[in-house]
This record gives sequence, C-alpha cells and structure tokens, in this order.
Amino acid sequence: MRIVRTVKSLRACIKKAKSRHQTVGFVPTMGALHDGHLSLIRRCRKENDLAVISLFVNPKQFGPQEDFAAYPRPEKKDKLLAKKEKIDIMFYPSGKEMYPSGFLTTIEVERLTEHLCGAARPGHFRGVATVVGKLLNMVAPDRLYLGQKYAQQAAVITQMVKDLNFPVTVKVCPTVREPDGLAMSSRNVYLSARQRQEAAVLFRSLQQAKKEILSGERRASHVVRRMRQTIKTHSSGTIDYIACVNADSLIPLEQLTGDVLIALAVKFGRTRLIDNICFHL
Ligand code: AMP
Repeated sequence: MRIVRTVKSLRACIKKAKSRHQTVGFVPTMGALHDGHLSLIRRCRKENDLAVISLFVNPKQFGPQEDFAAYPRPEKKDKLLAKKEKIDIMFYPSGKEMYPSGFLTTIEVERLTEHLCGAARPGHFRGVATVVGKLLNMVAPDRLYLGQKYAQQAAVITQMVKDLNFPVTVKVCPTVREPDGLAMSSRNVYLSARQRQEAAVLFRSLQQAKKEILSGERRASHVVRRMRQTIKTHSSGTIDYIACVNADSLIPLEQLTGDVLIALAVKFGRTRLIDNICFHL
C-alpha cells in the first residue's frame, strides 16, 4: 500500500494506473475504520484494478459546536487495517493540502439538503459535497463507494455527480451492523456502556416499522408515532427526527408508497446517532 499525502503524488499514481488501462475504485472516509468501511473497501477491491481510499477528517462538514476536534483519529490502526485489506493507495492529506489558504469555493446541492440531517446540521452537506467533489477531481475514479448508512449523503452525492457530470458510477452499499443491530459508526466509541446497550433500540424501531408497513400500515404519521414510543420507552435517547421520505427525492411522505426511506437521528448524551432502512412498496 502506498500512503500518499499530496495531490501531486496522488495524481501521478492515478495517471500511471490509467496509462495501464486499470480501473480505479474509490472509498472516501474520515478514518477510524470499522467493518462498515471495510465492507465498502472489499467491494471496491473486488470490482476495480486499483483500490483507493481517502482518510481525511473534513473540517468543513462539522458545525462550530460539533466534534471535529474530538473525532477519533486512530492513525496507526487505520493504516494497518487498510494494508491488511490490500488497499493500493491511501490518500491521507493534511488540512492545508485540501484547503490551502485562499480557498473560496463550495458546492451546494439544493433541496435534498434541507431536511433530515441538513436541518439539524446547517452547512454539513455543503462541506460534504465540496470535499467529495474535490476528491473526485483528484482521484478520478471509475467507481465511487458510499454506505447506505448515510442515506442523505448518498442521495446528495448522487445528485451532485449527475448535475456536475462527474464521470463516475456511484455504488451505494448496505449498512453493516453490530450483532444487536446497531449500525457501525466511528462515533459509537463515544457511548457509555448503558447508552451503547440502549442504542440497539434504534434498529429495533426501524424493523418494527417495516413489519407494520409490510402488514398493511400506510400512514407515515402512525409509523413515526409508534417508533417514537418505542425509542422513548426503551432508551434515554433524545429524538432529533424520525421521518418517512421518498428514497430518491427525500420528500416527506404522508402515505407510504414506492421507494420508502425511514430515517432517524437520536442523541445519546452528546452523541448523535443516525440510522435508516429503505424498501420498495
Ligand atoms: P465516514 O468515515 O463516517 O465519513 O464514512 C465513510 C463511508 O463509510 C460513508 O460512505 C458511509 O456511508 C460509510 N459507512 C459508515 N458507516 C457504515 C456502516 N455501518 N455500514 C456501511 N457503510 C458505512
């Protein structure tokens, strides 16, 4: 595995691979790698000649009161894991390399970013779209691998790729979970033992909702109310949102039909966890 710290050397590596007609797959991450990331990496490895991962805790996607400084950065462990997974190139830039002084440009994807996490985290998706847009220009991959875990992020990036004509295919991969159903996340390490145990209720509430819907329930308000009850009864979490939306447009649904995404964000102490399920009716 080559660890590359500058855009210039990254471009040189990619140019060499492309001159050999190798296909390039890319997994952007903020590090603190877990099995969710590894599932994307493995798929990327399998489907491409060259597997590239980026490790960058992007300051532009954190709000002023958020956990940028505290975000876990287990550098050694990440490097070992990436090596073990036979990544070809790990792009590990500094903040200055990504945002040199005088940096002025941002990418704003409208409408899709207004609801769900966009409402609670103003500017978050601008930061995400900007960094992923930059990374796509640097890596020039044939395929980009994202997790369904961040459903809104996947929808925003897919829209950006389409609108700005990035020549890349977006692959959205399933959420990887702990044995009790909690979606893997770099932020799970913040949870106390009690919060960690309680947090399993998030996936249970999503499963319960799906079961009710598959038995005929079509009223979104009813589904959300029941999920609220379950989470409140079985945890100390504070609900930020629970929403039933169309999976592509993210427009809220009253009657559940078509491609449905049920998404939630719940805070345990200062740790905000998100999860979702997606299915077709
Ligand atoms: P992050 O490092 O948190 O920015 O995440 C990098 C990528 O990993 C994003 O595309 C996420 O959607 C994906 N990801 C995060 N958690 C999971 C998970 N539990 N299962 C699958 N993919 C995930």
